[in-house]
Amino acid sequence: MAVNLYNHLSKFRKLVVHEPVGVCGQITPWNYPLLQASWKLAPALVTGNTLIMKPSEITPLTTIKVFELMEEAGVPSGVANLVIGPGQTVGAELSSHINVDLISFTGGIETGKKIMQAASVNVKKLALELGGKNPNIVFADADFDLAIDQAMNAVFFHAGQICSAGTRLILEESIHDQFIEALVARVKNIKMGNGFDENTQMGPLISAEHLKKVEKYVETGIAEGATLAVGGKRPDDQELQDGFFYLPTIFTNCTTDMSIVQDEAFGPIITVEKFNTEVEAINLANDSIYGLAGGVWTNDITKAKRCAAKLRMGTVWINEFNLYFPHAPWGGFKQSGIGRELGKLGLEEYTEAKHIFHNLYPEPINWFGN
Ligand code: NAD
Repeated sequence: MAVNLYNHLSKFRKLVVHEPVGVCGQITPWNYPLLQASWKLAPALVTGNTLIMKPSEITPLTTIKVFELMEEAGVPSGVANLVIGPGQTVGAELSSHINVDLISFTGGIETGKKIMQAASVNVKKLALELGGKNPNIVFADADFDLAIDQAMNAVFFHAGQICSAGTRLILEESIHDQFIEALVARVKNIKMGNGFDENTQMGPLISAEHLKKVEKYVETGIAEGATLAVGGKRPDDQELQDGFFYLPTIFTNCTTDMSIVQDEAFGPIITVEKFNTEVEAINLANDSIYGLAGGVWTNDITKAKRCAAKLRMGTVWINEFNLYFPHAPWGGFKQSGIGRELGKLGLEEYTEAKHIFHNLYPEPINWFGN
């Protein structure tokens, strides 16, 4: 009996498998070194890769400790490897090395672009977690005190040195003046000091070089015509003169054509913009080369959902800010990056999908005759 094998379901075995990419280069930034290392190490290892990690030259000690612990825990020799040194030499070598199959990088946008170019040498897979200039939209119907509390936390936690810091505060005009007045009053009470002191609420910037960058950024804001509402200088407190401290700073009367609204400061600075309509708020928030994260404060659920759908960014928090979950993907739209960390998508970055097709009953096609 003739059987049409092409209609016979059991004729083919089809399988999609996810295999390790191979040798992964992992380059991390200086902030949150333990978190940055763990977000990269765990998914690369669990999906069966080997890796070479290069931590920031500014904060390498945490990652060195993690590798010591991994060795103690019995991770086989050669599976997870650590190299330390400057980005321009060690990082650049890793990114351009012909035997490295993937680069997972977290850091600044300009470094990310260099890594993309270097990685083209053997068309490496790339996962890039770059910077952010994150909008925090507050509608007039939001819980006023809660929005102020979280607007402060969104930026001044870790002195603004977080990729997802909510540095662009976008306020509905009807609450603007009252909001700024209350925010400035609270910001003046932020207690700065040594991170080992339990009473300290905000510590210093990471380096003298970074302090200079933040000072320059504030000078630019003033020159561009923004209004300095509070801060804008180093603290006068004698005890804080030896560290790289910078006062929590707020600029009002900001517009999207200002570089302080567009550029990441990575410091304790909020720029404030105003809006009158929902569409205006969305347009302001999306007017950026970045698309990492943002927040929306409103008690109108339908409006919140509309905003979440229109905002071009990897994470939208509604009545929340700066919360991450290991099972939810993290990463950016636009120039904030390529790919995702965390969650199932974070694991997939470290795998190659392979389709295995097995014809159990092959037969001639005879397209070209016998
Ligand atoms: P950075 O770009 O200066 O350095 C990051 C890493 O890249 C370091 O290890 C550095 O040594 C290395 N590097 C420098 N030049 C290199 C080169 N030419 N080739 C290869 N590697 C090179 O960033 P940073 O100052 O350490 O960190 C702050 C930046 O990181 C901010 O822009 C922040 O937004 C971003 N960041 C993003 C996320 C995210 O999840 N998207 C998280 C944390 C930090």
